[in-house]
Amino acid sequence: MKTPFFQLTTLSQSSLQDYIDCARRFKLRYLDRLSYPAVETEPTLENEKHLQEGEYFHRLVQQHLIGIPADHIDRLANTPNLQRWWENFQSFSRANLTNLTACLPEVTLSAPLGNYRLLAKYDLIAIENDKALIYDWKTYRKRPRSEWLSARMQTRVYRALLVKAGAHLNNGKPFEPEQIEMIYWFADFPNEPARFPYTSAQFKRDWDTLHKLTEEIASASDYPLTDDRQKCAYCTYRSYCERGIRAGNMDQAESEMEAESLFDVNFEQIGEIAF
Ligand code: SF4
Repeated sequence: MKTPFFQLTTLSQSSLQDYIDCARRFKLRYLDRLSYPAVETEPTLENEKHLQEGEYFHRLVQQHLIGIPADHIDRLANTPNLQRWWENFQSFSRANLTNLTACLPEVTLSAPLGNYRLLAKYDLIAIENDKALIYDWKTYRKRPRSEWLSARMQTRVYRALLVKAGAHLNNGKPFEPEQIEMIYWFADFPNEPARFPYTSAQFKRDWDTLHKLTEEIASASDYPLTDDRQKCAYCTYRSYCERGIRAGNMDQAESEMEAESLFDVNFEQIGEIAF
């Protein structure tokens, strides 16, 4: 079935991850631009609250990193989750973010990739001497396996794009891959960050993969449903695909990090907070 698509000009780690996970989901979300018709996981209210708190936490950290004093933020961290995450963050920040050469929250980078622009919004790029550390805050309830994170498009796109488009953050000179490291920091597992240094060989592999993926997306006319029905349990488009009405249960899905990744926060989702 051929549908009139929106012209897609930008790709991000989220859209690429969706394409890899399920081409149909990519089509429904980014080409047909269907809104979210089904609850992704049960129990609904609890998950929605967790997602909102995750967004709010990102906003608090972001505001702190651009200069709002911690004691102004304290009163806004007003739920048990937010309090715990905020306290954990402050300890982490004191130990890791105080002697930086430059602290660059909320950086957006983009570069041409085939017929598209590849775009990424970073929680924080921290310059420490000649190293560029990419920080991403996660409010997952479970610490993911590092192997799972390593294969995610976010890990690959964020590091590669910093090489391609980060020269203005390095006195006009592109970062060497070996200068870059990506660090996921988990608000509920503050002492177990996942660290991913980078190499020139990895960068070449990533950029080649991104090019191939982009060409595939540009020429795609068929967007098959995934064969992995587990992915459908947490997908908002189940009803379109006749892959079940009931949402997957997050508790049953503890081993499924795909379910946890629903709590990923993009800056586009984050609303304003009055300080
Ligand atoms: S319900 Fe399943 S097949 Fe349909 S878009 Fe979601 S993941 Fe893909």
